Formats: sequence, C-alpha cells, structure tokens
Amino acid sequence: MNYYSLNKNALKVSFREAVIQGLAPDKGLYFPETITPLSRVFFDSIEKLSNQEIAFETIKQFVGKDIPENELKRIIEETLSFDFPLIQVDENSYSLELFNGPTMAFKDVGARFMSRCLAYFNRDKNQKNTVLVATSGDTGGAVASGFLGIESVEVVILYPSGKVSDIQEKQLTTLGQNIKALEVDGVFDDCQDMVKRAFLDADLKSKKLTSANSINIARWLPQMFYFFFAYKELKKYNKPLVISCPSGNFGNICAGILAKKLGLPIHHFVASTNANDTVPEFLKTGKYIPKPSKATISNAMDVGDPSNFIRIQELYGNNPDNFEKDFSSYSFTDEETKTAIVSLYKTSKYIAEPHGAIGYLGLKKELENKLDAIGVFLETAHPIKFSETVEEILSLTIPIPEQIKNVLDKEKKSLKISSYEDLKAFLLS
Ligand SMILES: *Cc1c(COP(=O)(O)O)cnc(C)c1O
Repeated sequence: MNYYSLNKNALKVSFREAVIQGLAPDKGLYFPETITPLSRVFFDSIEKLSNQEIAFETIKQFVGKDIPENELKRIIEETLSFDFPLIQVDENSYSLELFNGPTMAFKDVGARFMSRCLAYFNRDKNQKNTVLVATSGDTGGAVASGFLGIESVEVVILYPSGKVSDIQEKQLTTLGQNIKALEVDGVFDDCQDMVKRAFLDADLKSKKLTSANSINIARWLPQMFYFFFAYKELKKYNKPLVISCPSGNFGNICAGILAKKLGLPIHHFVASTNANDTVPEFLKTGKYIPKPSKATISNAMDVGDPSNFIRIQELYGNNPDNFEKDFSSYSFTDEETKTAIVSLYKTSKYIAEPHGAIGYLGLKKELENKLDAIGVFLETAHPIKFSETVEEILSLTIPIPEQIKNVLDKEKKSLKISSYEDLKAFLLS
C-alpha cells in the first residue's frame, strides 16, 4: 500500500515511510492510494468477531507488507487492551465511550498504535526517532503514556506553563524514562510555533523528528475502529445509523468516513463543533475560511483550521455537493454545552464532559428529522479530565479513577524553556 501527499508534490511512499515522516516533504498530508471495501462475509459475521479481529481486518490493507501479520496482530492486541462500552442515554441515542485507556482520552488508541509501529520499524537498527509534540492538554498525556518505555523513540512534549489542568500536567511530567516534558513560558500557540520551526530546522535533521498528532497516518487510521465497534453492537436493530463526533482537528470523523468507504453502513455523519465553526460555515457557504481559534470549555476542540479537513475533502472527491448526502456539521456555544450536560444528567443520570456533550447536541439536532434512525455520539474523554467544569455545572464530585490516582501521587519533572533557542539546545544536548 502506498500513500501520496495531498499537496501532490512529493513521491509516493509506503506505510513505513509515511509513519516515520509524519508529514510529506512538500508539507502535505499522506493519503492512501487505494481503499478496497471489505467483504460481504466480514459484515455478515461482524458480531461474532472480537474488537481485535475487527481491527486487524480493517487496517491490514493500509499497513500492507511493512509489518508481518503476526506482528500487526500483536500490535493491535497491545493497542486495544481496554473496552469501548456503548451506553444508552435515551430512547434512540447511545454514547460510545472511548476513554477507558491509560490516560482516559480517546487519543490513547492512536498513540499506542503509532508507538508500536515505530518500535517495530526501529527494531534491530540503532536508529532512533524523536517524537516532538505541542499539547494544549490531552494529546501530550496520551502520547507520553503510549510511547513510555519504547527505547528507540525519544518523546519531547511542549506544554504551556500554567495552562493545562493538574491532571493533564501530571500525566505529561511524571513518567520519566524516554519521555521529556518542556514547560514553555507562553501559550499553546507558542509551543506549536516552536515545534513547527524545529521540523524545518536543518541543524536538527539528525534527530529524525516526527509528529504524533492526527496528521500522522498511524494515529489517524486506527480511529476508524470505533465506528466498526458501534456498528457491531447496533446492527441487530436494523435501523439507519447516525454518528456524531465532537470535532477539533477532524481526525476522528475523517476516520469514520474512511470506514464508510470500506463498506460500513453508516447512514449519516455529524461533525459537532464548539464556537470554532470553520467547517459548519463551509457547509453553509461553500467557502473554507480558516479562523484564529477561540477559547471554549471544550478546549481540546479549539481549532480554527482543522488539519484533517483536507483528507475529508479528498474522501468526498473534492466536490462540495457530495457532502450533502451524508454529512452535516453544527456549532454549539458554551451555554448550550452546559445545558446539555445538565439535561443528560437529569434525564438519564449520565455524566458527560463538554466534548461528549457537544457530540450529543449535534446528534440530537440531526435525529430531529431522522425519526427512524438510531444515533451514537462519541464520548472522547472521561469527565474527570474536565472535572473542574463538570463538577461546577452539576454540583457534584466525580470519584477519581485508578489510572488518574496513580499519576497524581507522582512527582512532576519538567524543564522550563522560554525560546526556540532553548528548545534547540535541549534537542541537540
Ligand atoms: C482531540 C480531542 C477531540 C477532537 O478530536 P479530532 O479528531 O481532533 O476532531 C475531541 N475531544 C477530546 C476530548 C479530544 O481530546
């Protein structure tokens, strides 16, 4: 399987190269050259398959010959070492909980898969890669945990000092080993700018820098598993399936659209956003106009120029008319998000956090005119990750899960930096 760059100005590469490089040399995102639908037999018998078997069948064509089948199966076993429960919240709506991994955010799946692919590619050479990421909170923790102990990969995480929650900071800074946390005197955009500069810096070529956000195909592709898991549970009702994804960089929903290309019968997608409404506006006006990001209570989705939207356009044949059939996108305010959290709790005792609540709002809006459908929203983080907001809205205390207790007891270790020169010196030291 080969991947081409969506900027169309770079050579095609195999899965291995695309994972190691992250972004193509022409700065384009990689995209699979072919997408071959899965067999009828697979869908007819999906309810008899384990999550691991489903994952293997769906991803093997994208990995191709670069990882032997037995190794790929092992990587999948290790990646999917936790459950993905589907919880009914009202008559026709379900929450697919993606947060039972080590850092309690859905990004665990992609981070675990990517780290194990890189470890396999570096298995017998002395080659090392450095994963460099900027985080506003959740990505850093998932990447730190996913890559912990993978000897051939050094992980360097930049986070804005004082701008991430206590839990998030502990998840980033307490692991040690091959994980280094740099505490930047600045905001998230400063971290992001430093990372971008490092990728372009010729002096750092020998460090073999790569990224671990959803532009990397090894983080993006495994996210399609969730959609198959939801279908497996709901197939028996034989109703049109609507899935709503709380969207920031649109990696998750883009993986869902890929799953549909593989033959998964999803009737309709909803990309639910907070006030960062670049895509909802695009669907209204036909014009894609990136904007500076706005701060909201669902801050993992504060993105004004979603990086995966270009992949979605490719999946829809770069024709805006094709979106109308099965794709909607709606934007919601913080006030609406809070109201949804309250109403979910009142009607079904379900505790949602702000990102999931936005997914729920988008789902409900779409189901208004699809009365015969069954709906799923993705709950992308455990409420404890946004406990300050959720506890205030619902006036309750969320018990702290084991995974989180474990890091809270550990000691923070970070290095303070304030300029690009500091970062460069650190990477070269
Ligand atoms: C990253 C994140 C999202 C957004 O996912 P995308 O794939 O970037 O659209 C939503 N919710 C949470 C909790 C996240 O951490």
